[in-house]
Amino acid sequence: MAITDKIYIKNHRQIASQLETSFPKSAFSGATLDILFQGQGLANLDEATQDRVLDFAEDFLDCDCQSNPHCGCPERKFIGYLLELREDGLGPDAIVDILGEEYMLYAYSGDILSFLDSSIRTLEAAERLADVENHDDKAKQLRDVRENLAR
Ligand SMILES: [Zn+2]
Repeated sequence: MAITDKIYIKNHRQIASQLETSFPKSAFSGATLDILFQGQGLANLDEATQDRVLDFAEDFLDCDCQSNPHCGCPERKFIGYLLELREDGLGPDAIVDILGEEYMLYAYSGDILSFLDSSIRTLEAAERLADVENHDDKAKQLRDVRENLAR
């Protein structure tokens, strides 16, 4: 399962009752993207929640793809965002805190940790491949990214 399948809406029950409809707890589930982030019910949410929902939509659902928001861009952008937080030196617990503050989302820090570990392993594999094929610049570039993440 991708990490984006393990990102949840904080205060889910409260938000569902404000919207007077139900939607899945998972932030990137198709129905949540439609109902919460692209839906007409925004005005029914309290102001703090509205702000977070709008921020999320602006930051991750802003592509022009025809199938937006079901095009895969939101998930890709979100993964990039998680990796940036890690590069900024944040650990899994701090990342979980930021998700709550900025977007009213939550995740388990163990899930974030294994996501970061597997990202590092993916980079290592790519690095080895670049080494084998003598793409020295590419290998160095991958190694720099990985070392930033692994710090
Ligand atoms: Zn897109």
